[in-house]
Amino acid sequence: MRLLLTTSKGMEDIAKGEVENLLSGLGVPFRVEEKPLGVEGRVLAEVGEAFYTDEKGRKRELSVSTYLNERSRLLHRVIVEIASERFEGIGGDEPDLALRRIEEFVSELPVERYVKVSEPFAVRSFRKGEHKITSLDISKKVGKAIFERLERFGRPKVNLDHPAVIFRAELIGDVFFLGIDTTGDSSLHKRPWRVYDHPAHLKASIANALIELARPDGGSFVDPFCGSGTIPIELALRSYEGRILGLEKYRKHLRGAEMNALSAGVMGRIEFLLGDATRLSEYVESVDFAVSNLPYGLKIGRKSMIPGLYMDFFGELAKVLEKRGVFITTEKRAIEEAITENGFEIKHHRLIGHGGLMVHTYIIE
Ligand code: SAM
Repeated sequence: MRLLLTTSKGMEDIAKGEVENLLSGLGVPFRVEEKPLGVEGRVLAEVGEAFYTDEKGRKRELSVSTYLNERSRLLHRVIVEIASERFEGIGGDEPDLALRRIEEFVSELPVERYVKVSEPFAVRSFRKGEHKITSLDISKKVGKAIFERLERFGRPKVNLDHPAVIFRAELIGDVFFLGIDTTGDSSLHKRPWRVYDHPAHLKASIANALIELARPDGGSFVDPFCGSGTIPIELALRSYEGRILGLEKYRKHLRGAEMNALSAGVMGRIEFLLGDATRLSEYVESVDFAVSNLPYGLKIGRKSMIPGLYMDFFGELAKVLEKRGVFITTEKRAIEEAITENGFEIKHHRLIGHGGLMVHTYIIE
């Protein structure tokens, strides 16, 4: 089976590592590839059949897609691949031609192997790049091709609101994928624990990528701009045994973070503090790891405050940080100045896609 796995751009290697780790636990042969056909934000896993023994000693098939949906912290979707194809030059094709190429391709695929004809289905599409067609055009054409193919075997049903099976069609540049979306309509990064919705919250998948980059070893950990608590909550959910702190300047967000932690069942594991990160040393004498999604001045506050805020914060961080920090922001110049002026070294930099922006991510020591 080939599984097409989606995540944020720029963290495919970290997601690949997580998937390899999870699949190793199943004892099946597998191969994981980052950016299949050069597509960013995608990971492909080829996995052999997995089995488990039930309570009566019978050998049962284990659904690898369900296992990944349940266990992954970095993936957004788990899609069982039906086919993938490169359509050279599709970006320049007139709409009729582009859609005909897609329809002809899909109509030859044995979709009947993936769905019972009696099961209501829907097609959801995703399109990225320069094309003369929309994702809605793709959904309609792919839906028509699947319907006509299934009609050979019975009476297919379409249900766009409550489908039993979701086909996912993606056209990214000139690469087309079709698969069965086993995740459903809500992406895995939308965590069920989120009862307080901060206006600038971090995707939980990215929070986990930052935690992976920080490699916390059981030592104390702080998110000094914790907002709704995404980073400390996700760390606590990984059964982290060290001390976890979340600092936030505004009471409303801190209350929200506490509500989220309560909902996630980790309230007892995190110390939430109302306070100012530019006075960090007043709250903690020393801390091993600091990981944070810094204010960008876009949704909250003013952009002109950012250089001063970063300079003051990293000055404080220099007094308390023992091991490693990981920070994410759009404000490249301000963070790099604050990092170097305060005696830290940038050990790693990468860009991660978040909310339509490519965001700068740093590991510092
Ligand atoms: N990662 C968070 C989440 O997922 O909800 C969002 C963090 S948001 C980008 C930055 C947060 O920093 C905001 O909640 C803002 O109120 C807080 N903040 C701004 N200035 C602060 C300061 N001086 N000290 C502590 N928190 C501050």
